[in-house]
Amino acid sequence: MKKSFNIHHLIRPNVARLQPYSSARDEFKDVDQEMVFLDANENPFDNGVNRYPDPQQRILKSVLATQKNVQTEQILLGNGSDEVLDLLFRAFCEPNVANVLTLPPTYGMYKVLAGINAVTNREVLLTKDFELDVSEILKQQDEHSKLLFICSPNNPTGTIFNKEAVSELLEKFKGIVVIDEAYIDFSEIESWITRLSEYPNLVVTQTLSKAYGMAGIRLGICYASAEIISVLNKIKPPYNVNELTQQRALERLHNILDIKSEIEVLLKEKRKLENALADVTFIENIYASEANFILVKVDNAAKRYEQLILQGIVTRNRSNQPLCENTLRFTVGTPKENNKLITTLKSLQ
Ligand SMILES: *Cc1c(COP(=O)(O)O)cnc(C)c1O
Repeated sequence: MKKSFNIHHLIRPNVARLQPYSSARDEFKDVDQEMVFLDANENPFDNGVNRYPDPQQRILKSVLATQKNVQTEQILLGNGSDEVLDLLFRAFCEPNVANVLTLPPTYGMYKVLAGINAVTNREVLLTKDFELDVSEILKQQDEHSKLLFICSPNNPTGTIFNKEAVSELLEKFKGIVVIDEAYIDFSEIESWITRLSEYPNLVVTQTLSKAYGMAGIRLGICYASAEIISVLNKIKPPYNVNELTQQRALERLHNILDIKSEIEVLLKEKRKLENALADVTFIENIYASEANFILVKVDNAAKRYEQLILQGIVTRNRSNQPLCENTLRFTVGTPKENNKLITTLKSLQ
């Protein structure tokens, strides 16, 4: 449980003062009665998408709130989690003043977003076994440190972090701790969403892009205190989640059993891949993965990457990331795709 935390010290002054844009759909939302809508300059002829979408995505949020056991006021939806992460920068990080802490090797967008927003990115490497270096992270924070990004399960390593270490950071980091759970649905570990009431500085991001199989519709989800969500709501573009996305997401969320069975297949395929990779002579290490990908250390990543391309298989060479020299990342594909990867790897000279 975190005691002293005052979000008002963290918000950018211009955001705190901001009067948000009020859209037509914000100003009138009592939809119980049949109304004639002549307020938003839309084309009135119905084609399914001629009206602006609900800027607060209330139906979608209510389904998510039930499934995740949170209040709808604790949810913000974005055009992918990348938009959600960008909103966090824009709400809390004063350009050329603030800094954020990121923990490489990790997801590359945090650094890019820091660059776009003119915010210093303080990097604290993970330890050699891909754990959090808690004391070094805390040593690097100062009064301008606004966000700390913890990706768990982590991309590209696939590993998860020690729970006590994460708790300690939530207790001792003075800014907002963002836990990126893009891969949580592949893991046995409990989501940090369940701890939101204990940590007022906690933000959890999830996405429909990975386990939910909807990368194409762009839907990212942010769970946090109602206070943090209201700040993000102030600055988000009014119609940031389009109507088609809201509809497709709802359909998918109503078929949660389909998603669960796809995850089962992918996890089984991952175990199959891991077993097979152990027999490939040039693979030196297979990192324990809690996600839908496997990071492996090979003899020569550039060479193996090219050889796989020539056989029609695209993987990710992660060698430019610290602690990831000569590593390749394999996403778990369909059973057929995985078999092709295995056969090809075993045939390479
Ligand atoms: C893929 C991924 C995301 C997803 O981003 P979207 O914009 O929601 O598609 C977020 N974080 C990490 C760590 C990822 O690997």
